[in-house]
Amino acid sequence: MNIPAEVDRLKDEMVRWRRHLHARPELGFEEVDTARFVADVLREKGIDVVEGIGRTGLVGTLKGKHGKGPSLGLRADMDALPMTEARALPYASRVPGRMHACGHDGHMATLLGAAAALSSTRNFAGTVHFIFQPAEEGQGGALAMLADGLFDSFPCDEIYAYHNSERPFGQVVVYDTVVAAAADRFTITIRGRGGHAATPHLAIDPLPIAARILLAIEGLPGRLTDASSPAVVTVGSLHAGDAFNTIPDQATLIGTVRCFDEDVRLKLEQAIRRIADSEAAAHGATARIAHETLFAPTVNSAMHAGFVREAAAEVAGTDAIRRNPPPELGSEDFSFMLQSRPGCYFLVGQGDAEHQAVAHDVNYDFNDRILPIAAGIFVRLVERRLAPGA
Ligand SMILES: [Zn+2]
Ligand SMILES: [Zn+2]
Repeated sequence: MNIPAEVDRLKDEMVRWRRHLHARPELGFEEVDTARFVADVLREKGIDVVEGIGRTGLVGTLKGKHGKGPSLGLRADMDALPMTEARALPYASRVPGRMHACGHDGHMATLLGAAAALSSTRNFAGTVHFIFQPAEEGQGGALAMLADGLFDSFPCDEIYAYHNSERPFGQVVVYDTVVAAAADRFTITIRGRGGHAATPHLAIDPLPIAARILLAIEGLPGRLTDASSPAVVTVGSLHAGDAFNTIPDQATLIGTVRCFDEDVRLKLEQAIRRIADSEAAAHGATARIAHETLFAPTVNSAMHAGFVREAAAEVAGTDAIRRNPPPELGSEDFSFMLQSRPGCYFLVGQGDAEHQAVAHDVNYDFNDRILPIAAGIFVRLVERRLAPGA
């Protein structure tokens, strides 16, 4: 490890920030105390702050000491999950039913550390925007910031973010193109006509229609879409009726589409709509379909992925870098920011003896040992990309 000295000095402070935030988790768009804490630390470290971008989001801005240059954005997410922490850690969540189970407490502490380190040296030309984004866990926090004019008010030529990963401690995983999946949610409501179970000919039974739709749409990936591009359709909820002797009026299916490619996503959405409509119509029922994209596919720019690899190699050594391992079907809403600015989303492995639980598990905890690594990568990335005369 070759942690920059100005980051190493902040090691203990980063741990304190992380544990303070861990004990006080807030859900998406409710990150009021979290935002205030982050803003206070940034100001204390000499960084300008604008709050209320995307409701509870905020942006810190720092200019280098070497004059004009490009602008670079670094982003951390802020929200916790509606879960109850299982472990009795000294800094465990003080709020039942709320938990930083995805490590966003660690991402914030990392970005605060990078901001404080860069503020102490300002050894770059141009501007860095520290973007603290609310509501990453499926509530559209990135889109809310973009809708508030994030990149108009805080122009960024390129943007970067990272997520902790269950991979071995210290590994830095960088993908040249797609790194996380698109995730859609659909709700299909079949309206038939209720009646007595003994006289189905007088009713329009929505249940067999819903069953046909379920089997048809779950079978789409690999038949409708190219099997070499991974995709999954899963119906996670199917509700209809309450009684054994009654045909209900309606049936509702709720499910998700996961894939890596926008064309595949669109094709599946269109097919789900087509199948639901035509199956319902074929049996005299109607289908109402709501389909929303919660996450776009997260796609890196190969060039900017290269910059992350160089900065990460300087901090963690070339042996720590993993380039393009098979991607996983997780999702990330930094995807929407990467649709409007080029950049790279990378992963830092935190797995060691004390950190075996995966994110979204009640036993999960962020590994504080990766704070200086990730903050160090951000600092080196800024110094390289915004080097005077570069
Ligand atoms: Zn998560
Ligand atoms: Zn997360």
